[in-house]
Order: sequence, then C-alpha cells, then structure tokens
Amino acid sequence: MTIKEINTGLNEKKFSCAEITQEYLDRIEIKNRELNSFITISKERALEEAKQLDANKDFSHPLAGVPMALKDVVCTQGIKTTDGSKMLENFIPPYNAVVADRLKNAGTVLLGKTNTDEFTMGSSNETSYFGPVKNPHNPDYVPGGSSGGSAAAVAAHLATFSIGTDTGGSIRQPASFCGVVGLKVTYGRVPRYGVLSYASSFDTVGPITQTVEDAAIVLNTIAGPSEKDSTTPAVHMPDYTQFLKTDLKGVKVGVPKEFFAQGVDPSVIKVAENAIETLRQLGAELVEINLPMTEYAIPTYYILVKSEASSNMSRYDGIKYGHATDHAKELEEVYLKSRAEGFGDEVKRAIMLGTYALSAGYYDAYYLKAAKVRNLIKQEYEAVFQKCDVMIGPVSPIPPFKIGEKIDDPISMYLADTLSVPMNLAGICGLALPAGKSENGLPIGIQLMANQFKEENLFHVGHAFEQANA
Ligand code: GLN
Repeated sequence: MTIKEINTGLNEKKFSCAEITQEYLDRIEIKNRELNSFITISKERALEEAKQLDANKDFSHPLAGVPMALKDVVCTQGIKTTDGSKMLENFIPPYNAVVADRLKNAGTVLLGKTNTDEFTMGSSNETSYFGPVKNPHNPDYVPGGSSGGSAAAVAAHLATFSIGTDTGGSIRQPASFCGVVGLKVTYGRVPRYGVLSYASSFDTVGPITQTVEDAAIVLNTIAGPSEKDSTTPAVHMPDYTQFLKTDLKGVKVGVPKEFFAQGVDPSVIKVAENAIETLRQLGAELVEINLPMTEYAIPTYYILVKSEASSNMSRYDGIKYGHATDHAKELEEVYLKSRAEGFGDEVKRAIMLGTYALSAGYYDAYYLKAAKVRNLIKQEYEAVFQKCDVMIGPVSPIPPFKIGEKIDDPISMYLADTLSVPMNLAGICGLALPAGKSENGLPIGIQLMANQFKEENLFHVGHAFEQANA
C-alpha cells in the first residue's frame, strides 16, 4: 500500500496501526533473510509506537501511522546507527537527526534501519560491513547503492517508504535499479543535522517511495529550514502535492545530448527515448540541450568528494567514539590500529585519495582545480534552466549488474556514476522514476532534473509520466 492508502485506511478504521505495523514486521522477518536490506529491525519499539498512535486516535497528518524505514546513516536516539561500518557497529546515538524528529512528530512508525554501502561510499551496496543487499527483482543482482537497503525495502514492500541519502546518486541509482521512485533534493532543502556525513557540500537527504505523490507527501514533512543546519535557507516551500498534474502543455523538457552519448547502454537509451516520446505526447515541448562539461564530472566529483570524506573520516579515531582496537600499547597505535581495523577498503581508498588531493604541493593541482571546474559545471546548469523547466535522461548508463561483477574494479564502478554526480556538483534536484526493463527483466529508471529549489517541476512532470506509463 502507498502512504495515502495506509493513511486513508487508518482514518476509515479499516485496520489499526498496530495491525499494519505487525504485517510489515512479519514480512520483514521472512524477506530480510534473503534480501539483507535491514541492519537493525526495531520491532518492539515499532509496535509500541503503533499502539500509542492507535490510543491517540489522531491520523490527521498525511504520514500518521505510516510504517517506514531510515537509512542507517540517520541518527536515531537509542537505536544503533552504523553507517554500514564496523567502525560504528555499536554506536547508539544520543539524539535524533532533524529528519528523524520531523518524521516521528508526523506520527510515522520506524520499522528499522536500512543497509548501506560503508559510510555511503559505493554504488552497489557491496561495501557494507553487514554484507551486500540483494535486488528484490533478482537476488543475483545488486540493488544499487549506496541507499540499496532503502530502495530494496520499498521495492519488496518491507516499508511503505524509506529515507536515503544522495551524495553522487545514492538515492536515484538504487531507486532506478529497484524500480521505485527516488528524490534527490536541492542541496539545503532538507536539513542534514544528525545525518552522518560523507561529503558535506554534496550530501542530501530524501525519500524513496512507491509513487511520485508519496515522494511529495514525504518532502512536505521533511523539507524546510532548521536552526540546526546553517545550509538550509528559508526558500519558499510550497505544498508539493499541488503540482501532481497530468497535462504537460507549455512545459519545456530539455534533452541533454551528452546523456545519450557513447558508453550509455542501448537498453538504457531505449527506455529514456520511450519516456521522452511519452512526455511529447502529453504536450511537453522538447528542447535540445548541450552540457559539454559532462565529461569532467567524474574526475571533479571524485577529487572533491574524497577530499571532503578524508576530512570527515578523521573524527573516527578510536578515542572520541567508534571502534577502538584492543591491540595497542600507545596512543599513536590506538589511532592507527582502530582505523585499520574499523574501516573497509573503499573508505581507506577515499582517505588516501582525499588526503593526497589536499596535501601541500598537490592542493592547487587537484583540489583547487576541481573546485573551479565544479563552479563551471554549476554555471552550465544555471544557463540550461533558462531554456527549459526540467531535463530528462538516464540515471545510470548501465542496467543493474550482478553482485561481484564490479566490486574489484573501482574505476569502472566510479565511471558508472557519470550521469548522477553532475546534479550533486551543481546542487540541483533530480527525481528517478521507474520507466522500463532491461533484457533480463530488471528495472531501468529515468531521471528528471530541475533547477535549485524547483522540486515542484519534478513532481509535475514525474506524476504526469507515471500516470501515462502505468
Ligand atoms: N557512488 C558514489 C560515491 O561513492 C555516490 C555515493 C553516494 O551518493 N553516497 O561517491
């Protein structure tokens, strides 16, 4: 059931919140053994919350009584938050993230914390210390990452919706691979306070849902400024559910030709081209767009993100908090051994790459240069949105791949992020939607992109497409 169906059912007393929560918990119990999409299942607490909600009898908030899951990067008071790492295997946060608080205050029921690539570094959920997540459409395939657990949980109906994070595609790509809806918000639209950092100038928090309408409902609740996050400006926040229209007359949809270039799998191009045709039939005006900086997105992104990550990871030293080694005799050994034992390969790669790019003598050539190129990419996107309301393209240049296929080849894994990282470099928003299937029957999504703080454009075009494609 969608968010709307659950909330309506509760208001019409078709079922109680405890019943529906139990239903989800039973399903998780059976399916999670195979899928591994949850790291922690907060069973008792969920049932307690549900009973409390039933006793209060107030389901007036559109999210009230809705069972959901949070990616295990969102701090939850009293519930383990691991970020997919041995480093935080036993970390119990003393406070809630702003997003967790907002969802709790709305009356949602937290079912558990979903699996993720370690410290959200990855595109396949294979770097998690807690093991890979399986794609619910075929367990031999990856669900995408890093919010793979969140996307798989929604696709397998183990949660009505979930929260993920997107630093370079981590909501949109797993949504695309699992056949669900994933929203990467404008940088700053949703507060990051209490969400464990990967790269602070890129990280965004957003919903993974079954429908575009559900994404709008969740965004209404989690978006907006917070005094705890100084990067959340007081930009006007409309009621996003008002933009769920089916007519696209007068809407200009940009088609960036670089998103259909060499290296993009023919099956992915076909799905996107069919989607473009659907939008045209709905009355959209198509505009050809050029984004020549696209080829610089991957090197720029990986230099900047790994630099920020190497700095963010320095707090995990085995003393303040996090895994502490049992095998050290002196202070320096505590740092070295705790970090060597606590971090996996992908995180170590980030620390080495980032520290190198930031070091004296290399800073100007790598970090500073990349920061300048990021600005050029940003300007290119600003100019494009003078010509169109949204752009459309594939999310990932490749369809879902097999578990084990790419994990030993980090370069090829990084290259597969080429169509999702530009939105994070530019700070704009993007929506991934189910659109078709690969030759072996796995989902392939499309991506709509809009200017900063123009999420309403995504909901408008996304809803119209979803209804037409149903
Ligand atoms: N795969 C990308 C990376 O490792 C994106 C991950 C993300 O968005 N968190 O940086």
